[in-house]
Amino acid sequence: MVSRVVFGRGSFNQLGDIIAPERLNRKAPFIFLVDDVFKGNSDLTSRIPLAYDDQLLYISAEHEPKTSQVDELVESIILTHKDRPSGIIGIGGGTILDLAKAVAIMLTNEGEAKNYQGWDLVKNPAIYHVGIPTISGTGAEVSRTTILTGPERKLGINSDYTPFDQVILDPELTKDVPKDQWFYTGMDCFVHCIESLNGTYLNAFSKSYGEKALELCKEIFIEDNLSDEESADKLMMASWHGGMSIAYSQVGVAHAMSYGLGYLLGIKHGVGNCIVFEHLEDYYPEGVALYKAMRKKHNIKIPQGICADLHDDEFDTMIDVALSLEPLWENAIGKNWKQVITRNKLKALYQKM
Ligand code: NAD
Ligand code: ZN
Repeated sequence: MVSRVVFGRGSFNQLGDIIAPERLNRKAPFIFLVDDVFKGNSDLTSRIPLAYDDQLLYISAEHEPKTSQVDELVESIILTHKDRPSGIIGIGGGTILDLAKAVAIMLTNEGEAKNYQGWDLVKNPAIYHVGIPTISGTGAEVSRTTILTGPERKLGINSDYTPFDQVILDPELTKDVPKDQWFYTGMDCFVHCIESLNGTYLNAFSKSYGEKALELCKEIFIEDNLSDEESADKLMMASWHGGMSIAYSQVGVAHAMSYGLGYLLGIKHGVGNCIVFEHLEDYYPEGVALYKAMRKKHNIKIPQGICADLHDDEFDTMIDVALSLEPLWENAIGKNWKQVITRNKLKALYQKM
């Protein structure tokens, strides 16, 4: 679990005080990985507490993180600074938070990031790392994974060393998120709840977090009596609780199939989950009905026909990626999932998207 967290509007201002005691020495910098959407946004950048040899790197969140991108960042940090950094601070959405976690791990573990995609393969503790979300929903701020696209698979580095040492939850940072993106990433949280609460891995720990996150999602996306600020505050906490819920269970069908879309077509996680979830009424009937009501209420367009021109071998690639995520299927369907989920069923679903 994340060991330290602060919450509140304006809490970003505490960053300097929070990290100061973690500085190893003057030559051991803090590296700030910042979503490049904030380039030129002095309201945020002027509050980043740079000192000594600290470095600020703007990173594009246009594409989801790749293992090769992690390796390049680690190499450039090692080449630029003589001393091992004091810490990595990620400021952005799930893309930047995942990169920050992966870079912190790979600074202390040999070889390439792709070798650590899987469960509990990391040998050495990561360096100190801090996560500061600027959009709410993925739960990446609280999870023990960092999802990466590698040469062979899209899979997380799941380990006890992955979670942040410190998280700063400042809902004010989310105020400029575009509406569609707000919905897609918010729905990631909603889908986490539905997949966790309807999974065979469910237990009292996951259930208590999942139910709270779902209740908050309903307040935010269905009932309409919150101010913008209340809504943003609550979505940040829904994201946290949704992430905690899957930390002790798993996601399910939407995520498995969304990974296939992401791997082959580069479709991003949030919108990918929405594209898949539109067609999952056989698996999550109540969840899908609720989702469709929210999509209509907020007048959000979901891309359609993205699989229309695909060839058989491309469907096969997506199906291979989806089926390789065995824990997700076992959670969604049960131990006998291989008898229930056939390649043809998945192909028919992908063809509808
Ligand atoms: P994102 O980080 O991909 O960002 C989406 C868009 O929103 C980008 O264009 C970004 O620049 C913009 N943005 C972010 N904050 C903004 C702000 N305050 N104002 C204006 N624009 C802003 O979005 P996401 O949905 O949070 O993250 C998706 C990524 O998270 C995927 O790579 C996915 O694999 C990963 N993910 C990780 C976990 C985990 O547990 N590690 C869980 C779910 C998803
Ligand atoms: Zn997700």
